[in-house]
Amino acid sequence: MRTKIVAGNWKMNNDKDATKSLLKDLKKSVNNLPLKNTRVIVAPTFVNLSSAIKRTKKTEIEVVAQNMHQAKNGAFTGEISAEMLKSIGVETVILGHSERRTLFGETDAILAEKVDTALGNKMEIIFCFGELLADRKSENHFKVVESQLKKALFHLEAAAFKNIVLAYEPVWAIGTGETASPEQAQEMHAFIRKVLAEKYNQNTALAVSILYGGSVKPANAEEIFSKPDVDGGLIGGAALKAEDFTAIIKAI
Ligand code: 13P
Repeated sequence: MRTKIVAGNWKMNNDKDATKSLLKDLKKSVNNLPLKNTRVIVAPTFVNLSSAIKRTKKTEIEVVAQNMHQAKNGAFTGEISAEMLKSIGVETVILGHSERRTLFGETDAILAEKVDTALGNKMEIIFCFGELLADRKSENHFKVVESQLKKALFHLEAAAFKNIVLAYEPVWAIGTGETASPEQAQEMHAFIRKVLAEKYNQNTALAVSILYGGSVKPANAEEIFSKPDVDGGLIGGAALKAEDFTAIIKAI
């Protein structure tokens, strides 16, 4: 059975005190849930990773990073390396988020390097991808998604996918309040598995967890998560309130 995952991407939100208080509330609510085969993940900002890791020790909550640089070290002002993340206990990193791609110029080629660096450091990756509104309108969404997967991931061996979680996030649904319909999410997730099965094999395609992201909230989570190829969600706005995030976890 594939692992289910509910992950909260906090983006550039929550200072030190807000991180402390949100984690306190989450610990209370998450620890009472029956989390069979389900991982609960939060991704605070870099400066709050260390404290978040300490605060979630011996809980069901995992702390991951939102990004990292592809180089080992060096003159990259403002950047954070895989080794630095590992040294404070971060084992998983989100890569390829659409905000990194569009606002910070991360190309498929850069992402392929980041993927190699993360895996080379024995880190797990939550790899994000998804089409723009224009791609969907022109019915190019399948082509775009396939190309994003190919360019950043398909140089890998099948075994690497044991350490990769995929997160389909249609850009037009991120922070817009507009969600892909459960059918649209299912259709794309099934397509992603087909592409993986063609490139690798059926086992790899069936084993990888594929999350949906884009305006998931308590009101729509259950229906989206009910789809057979949707293994959970990558949550933005609704992950910032303990009550909403907990409700979304319950929906899985
Ligand atoms: P929203 O849930 O705010 O749409 O953000 C989704 C997202 O980008 C998660 O990474």
